[in-house]
Order: sequence, then C-alpha cells, then structure tokens
Amino acid sequence: MAVGVPDGAIKVYGEASREYPMGSLAKLVWLRLEGAEWASAGVEYKCTGTSGANTCWLKKGHGRVDLEKALQQSCNLAFLEWARLSAEEWKKYLGEGVGRLRIEEGFNPFLGNRLPPGDTVPPITPDWVGDGELLRSSPEAMLKWLLDPAQELLLVRCQRYLGVTVRKDEVWWLKSGTAPVVGEPGVTSAWVAGGNGKMVAVIHLPRGRGRVEGVERFLKVLGLK
Ligand SMILES: [Zn+2]
Repeated sequence: MAVGVPDGAIKVYGEASREYPMGSLAKLVWLRLEGAEWASAGVEYKCTGTSGANTCWLKKGHGRVDLEKALQQSCNLAFLEWARLSAEEWKKYLGEGVGRLRIEEGFNPFLGNRLPPGDTVPPITPDWVGDGELLRSSPEAMLKWLLDPAQELLLVRCQRYLGVTVRKDEVWWLKSGTAPVVGEPGVTSAWVAGGNGKMVAVIHLPRGRGRVEGVERFLKVLGLK
C-alpha cells in the first residue's frame, strides 16, 4: 500500500514498488485524458454484456450508463466505446502522429516499452481499458501519478463521480478493480485507489483476491471501518 498527500511525503507499506497489470485503474487514466470531453458531450452507452468479439465483466450487461455510472460500475464496454470514439476524433482532427503522441503521453507511466512501435494511433483494444497486461503500475507509481499537480482536476472528478460516505462526515472516492496476474492465466489480483480530498491511497492485493476484499482491506487499513 502507498499513502500520501499532495506536496507531501509518500508512505509505503509492504511491497509497493512492484508492477502489476493495473486493471480498471486504467479508467482513471481515461478520465484524466478525456473526462472533460466525455462529460460535456454527455456520453451514454447501453451495455448488453457483449459487443462484437468483446465482453463486459458483467455478463448480463450494465444497461444504459452515463460517465458516472460507467465509472462506478466499471463498465468495460462503455469505456471501450468512448475511448474508440476519442481515438477516431484524434485521428480525424489531430492526425495519426499527434493522436499517437496524445495516447503515448497520457499512458506513458503505465506502458513501459509495451506499446508496439509505429507512428499511428494504436487500435483501442480492451487492453486499453484495463483488460490484459498492457497497462501496468505499482501502488507507489500509481499514487505518485495521482498526486502529481497535473492530476488535480482528475481528483476533483473522482470525488464527484465516485464519492461515497464512509463515516458520518467523511466522503472518500474509491475506484476498485481486478487485474490478471502476469504468467498465471485465470488468476486475478485486486486494486483499490481512493482519496478524501486531502489524502490519496493505493492498495494492491496479491493473487487470488477480488475487488470487494480490496475495498474492505483499504477501509480497514485506513481506519475507516
Ligand atoms: Zn458493462
């Protein structure tokens, strides 16, 4: 786990610097990159659980979702659709080269050297919204990214879309996700990132754990439950 405040020291507990696939925390990167666009466009999506060759993690689908609901329920297909539309717009209005730069810069901390070389916008596959192993982070790296002054607006959006009252007068935003474990097909691990407007924390639970357990642990460790 890694805990910190903006402009302050970061505290880490346990193994916080090892990288793992980041799962649904990738949706926070999209919220940072395209959140303003998507919110002002009033994006909506009807998730039926499948779309072409792709499936959502919830088999029966999430039904009609807007940005807030898609974030709260972590609808993969909604994010995939909106990310694809954004990529199409980048290509159309910015051109392939600038579009690629945009996605490279936005996802740089999470890509390592896994982005195939080229000078065009890569196809937006489910990996880009948190499936698979393309995007990776560690609790410490994710925390540093969230605490970067450039992410100030993202934290405000997180508080608005994902805020839940955890104690009488304390609202925390929480984003949880499950992610695959590299080299162990079928095995998952869990992530939770969250903040209360002052402090931000990121926890990663090792193999075999799910998001519900992740949230429980997160709240317990921070003394919120
Ligand atoms: Zn869905």
